[in-house]
Amino acid sequence: MNRQFLDIQDLACGYDRQMVLHHINFQAQKGEVVTIIGPNGSGKTTLLKTIPGLIHALEGYALLDQEDLSQMPAKLKAKRVAMVMQPMESIYMTVEEYVLLGRLPYFKTYQFIEDPSDIRAADKYLEYTGISHLKGESLSRISSGERQLATIAKALAQEPELLLMDEPTSHLDISHQAQILKLITDLKQQHDLTVVMVQHDLNLAGEYSDQVILLDKETQTLYKSGSPKEVITEAHIRAVYHTDVVVESNPHSGRPGVFLRKS
Ligand code: ADP
Repeated sequence: MNRQFLDIQDLACGYDRQMVLHHINFQAQKGEVVTIIGPNGSGKTTLLKTIPGLIHALEGYALLDQEDLSQMPAKLKAKRVAMVMQPMESIYMTVEEYVLLGRLPYFKTYQFIEDPSDIRAADKYLEYTGISHLKGESLSRISSGERQLATIAKALAQEPELLLMDEPTSHLDISHQAQILKLITDLKQQHDLTVVMVQHDLNLAGEYSDQVILLDKETQTLYKSGSPKEVITEAHIRAVYHTDVVVESNPHSGRPGVFLRKS
């Protein structure tokens, strides 16, 4: 197995010389789910956007299969890397038209409309995300949760190897949260998809990740990385979030569950 499919090397990120994070190092293998957690403003979204080169790295590299992502030709990168970002756009096109945008990197020269294989791919991921019944609806007329599912379907229609997601479950109710995270688990198992996501919900991070990256706002770097059990501990959460919590093992999964401790 390729241990370093995604290799983040000494990455520093920020804006106009304002450093937000420095010395970020982690690796992910194919089929691994990596979740970035940390307090508000600790740089989770900035890091996620720096990985594919959406924001220029101030220092260091993000390598995919040993290739520098910031130097990768745009069309090739669009086939290999898909992003699900916040906030959701509300635009005037149908859900199906929107999901079909995910097929654009596969259009051949002089191909101006989608071909049957693109329609089949869009249909497949509309079904995967449970929104086939909405395909003729305008994006502006569906709920924000449904729009989030459409954005995920569009990203999957790109059939990427690396999926970057900024809080993919933030607008979803508990059943849709479970559906999306189950889908990510299936995709990683069946298609070796590597996922890096930002997650506010520490319980979801603990439950669905292979590796957790905890960012610290004060030191502007990685506080701890490792398995959910290694990272999501009472001491680490207290140190980084300055909040007293109880961490107990979920009796069903054995994964860490986080509960607020009443003062
Ligand atoms: P998080 O996702 O952990 O809440 P962000 O990555 O959004 O954190 O923000 C980290 C820091 O970068 C914050 O201080 C924020 O104000 C700053 N920041 C975010 N976006 C921009 C931007 N477009 N221009 C300048 N500073 C930004």
